Amino acid sequence: MAFILLVAGAGLALGGYWALRRRKTEALLAAPLPGEFRQILRARVPIYNALPHELRKRLDGLINRFLAEKKFYGAQGFEITDEVRAVIAAQACLLIVNKPNRWYKTLDTIHVYPAVFSSRMIRAEGNLMMEHRPIRSGESWARGPVILAWDQAAYGAFAAHDGHNVVMHEFAHQLDNETGVTDGSPLLDKDQSASGWARVFQDAYARLKADAEAGHNNILDPYGATSPAEFFAVATEVFFERPQELREHEPALYGELAKYYRLDPADWG
Ligand SMILES: [Zn+2]
Repeated sequence: MAFILLVAGAGLALGGYWALRRRKTEALLAAPLPGEFRQILRARVPIYNALPHELRKRLDGLINRFLAEKKFYGAQGFEITDEVRAVIAAQACLLIVNKPNRWYKTLDTIHVYPAVFSSRMIRAEGNLMMEHRPIRSGESWARGPVILAWDQAAYGAFAAHDGHNVVMHEFAHQLDNETGVTDGSPLLDKDQSASGWARVFQDAYARLKADAEAGHNNILDPYGATSPAEFFAVATEVFFERPQELREHEPALYGELAKYYRLDPADWG
C-alpha cells in the first residue's frame, strides 16, 4: 500500500513538474522581447527587421525561450554580453521560427571564442594517427554543443545578403542531427516527401560538386560539395541570405527548403 502511494505521489509530482515547465515555456514564448534585446537586433541583425510582423513576434518568443534555457560560455576569456547572446539566439531561432514544436532539445550550451579558433582533430593516415589543427569559425557537435567565433557570428549576422552565415550553418547541422545522424537528410515533416527531398538534394549536390571540380561558379559555396551534411548547411545559409537568387538558380532546392523551414524568405523584401 505504502509503495502504491509512493508511486502515485511520485507520478503526481512529476506531472506537476511537467505542467509547470510547460506553463513557463508558454509564458516565455508569448512574452515580448525585452526592449534592450530588440534594440540590439534592430542594429545588428538586419534580417530581424525584414521579417513579417507575425514571424518577428514568434521569433521574439523563441529568443526568450532560448536565452532562458541555453547556457553561453566564453572561451579564451571572452565575455558573454547581452549582444552576444541576442545576436546568436536570434539567428539560431530564425531557423525554427515557423516549425512549431521543433526545438534544439539536445543542445544545452553554446561556447563562444572571440575570433576564429583552432580545433583538434585526430585522423588516420596510413598506419599513423595524425593530429590536425584546422582553423574554424564554428563547429556543431552531434547532440550539442555549438561552438562559434564571435567575430564571424557578428559579421555573418550583419552582412545579411552575402550568403555566408556561420550561426545558421552550425544550427542547420543541429537540426540535421535530430535524426541521430548528421547526413544532410533532416527530420522531415509529415507533408514532405522523403524521396522528393532526396532526389532534389542529390541533383543539386551533384551540380555543385561538378561546378566545384570544374572551377565554375555556383550560387552555393564550393564547401557545400564536401559532403551532403555540409551541402544542407551551406544551402540553408543561402536560402535565408540570398533567397531570390537561390529560387532563380535552384528552384527545386529552394522549394524543398521552403517546405522544410515552412518559410518563403524570397518574399520578405
Ligand atoms: Zn559545416
